[in-house]
Amino acid sequence: MKIALFTDLARSAFRRPVTERYPFEKRPAPPLYRGQVSWTAEGCTGCMLCVKDCPAEAIDFFTLDKANKRFVFRYHTDRCTFCGQCAYSCRFSCITLDDEAWELAGGDRAAFVVTYGRPEDIARVELEELPATGA
Ligand code: SF4
Ligand code: SF4
Repeated sequence: MKIALFTDLARSAFRRPVTERYPFEKRPAPPLYRGQVSWTAEGCTGCMLCVKDCPAEAIDFFTLDKANKRFVFRYHTDRCTFCGQCAYSCRFSCITLDDEAWELAGGDRAAFVVTYGRPEDIARVELEELPATGA
């Protein structure tokens, strides 16, 4: 019994560890992995289907000027269930779930709110504390 134990120990001492050296070495996420939501204004019509279909109320949408496509998209990572419904519902491919943004642990909840849009539009939404469209 003891001999078997020491043989095992000796063998293990010279074997490469099977565990990964995270966070120093990272494997790429599997294809189609659903990470953090990202949004682009290009193609967005302001239809708000993404907001209506989100089961977690994780998206606030601000329509500043629909004719000129001035929108702000505020995403609450801390509420998101990563279901992918918003990307599925958007007919204009404005939303993707980023397979590189998956390390989402943190101690500050405010850091999980991500706001997309033109900087001047985001500033207006924040300074004037505008309510989300349809809220
Ligand atoms: S569903 Fe797509 S097009 Fe409609 S508001 Fe959302 S991002 Fe824009
Ligand atoms: S992935 Fe799901 S929960 Fe997250 S914002 Fe999109 S619809 Fe909402």
